[in-house]
Amino acid sequence: RVNRDDFMRALEEVHPAFGVSEEELQQVIQNGIIHYDGIVDELLKSGLLFVEQVRSSTRTPLVSILLHGPPGSGKTALGASIAQSSEYPFIKLISPDNMVGFSEAQKVSAITKVFTDSYKSPLSVVVVDDIERLIDWTPMGARFSNSVLQTLLVLFKRRPPKGRRLLIIATSSLRPMLTDLGLSETFDSELRVPPITSLRALEHVVQEVELFPSDQHRKRAMRMLEEAGFGGGDEFHPKLQIGVKKLLSIIEMARQEPENVAERLTSALLDLRS
Ligand code: ATP
Ligand code: MG
Repeated sequence: RVNRDDFMRALEEVHPAFGVSEEELQQVIQNGIIHYDGIVDELLKSGLLFVEQVRSSTRTPLVSILLHGPPGSGKTALGASIAQSSEYPFIKLISPDNMVGFSEAQKVSAITKVFTDSYKSPLSVVVVDDIERLIDWTPMGARFSNSVLQTLLVLFKRRPPKGRRLLIIATSSLRPMLTDLGLSETFDSELRVPPITSLRALEHVVQEVELFPSDQHRKRAMRMLEEAGFGGGDEFHPKLQIGVKKLLSIIEMARQEPENVAERLTSALLDLRS
């Protein structure tokens, strides 16, 4: 039987709360969060501590954190996931992917609008994804959009109006560059998102996404990786440095050839090294 509560719940499901871009967030966590290593839980837990701090402390109406780490290590997904689990009434993602073809002025105005909107909500979280791409950073000649950078610098420091609280979660793959641009002092805390560096963590991922039809198949593949020089078990291995994003894409590629999954996986990982 469907009762009123069910009905109200259904309504909520259809209409996301005002200010929450549910779809956008979901999209960047498409492959879920795999708990391949203790560090994943630690990062989520640290993120949630800031969420709680902003929610409960009247002394810190503005907190900003930076998730940084090598390309594909999972920064965007983790940031979005922390934002989503905050359950704040206002949750927005500022992503360069949604600003393709924008002029500098349009970018500045889109970014500013998200922050201005956030000031209307008692509790907000804004994910500022991929700072280097937002400012159009080009290593060649160290060029970037100064107007977008200045906008970020101002907004990262601006306290929300009285009674409003804001958590900013920024991500970047180029931590050292942020110092040069004067952006690093603005963060209250930095969390490093590392790549996968042990076979155990890698095995956890392939198991989670059910790459192999049986435990034996998986174990055989793991032996193959050990023999290829990727260390074993928990051991940190300098030759094994792969972001979870890249690993997932290699896994999907290997899956296309069901008779040779282990071989494809091994050779793709070996290719990364060379
Ligand atoms: P880039 O450097 O290109 O911006 P990124 O570091 O932001 O990459 P994501 O875009 O977040 O990486 O990609 C990570 C992908 O891996 C997502 O599809 C996410 O769903 C999936 N994923 C699985 N487990 C995890 C995890 N523990 N942490 C983060 N992402 C994970
Ligand atoms: Mg990203």
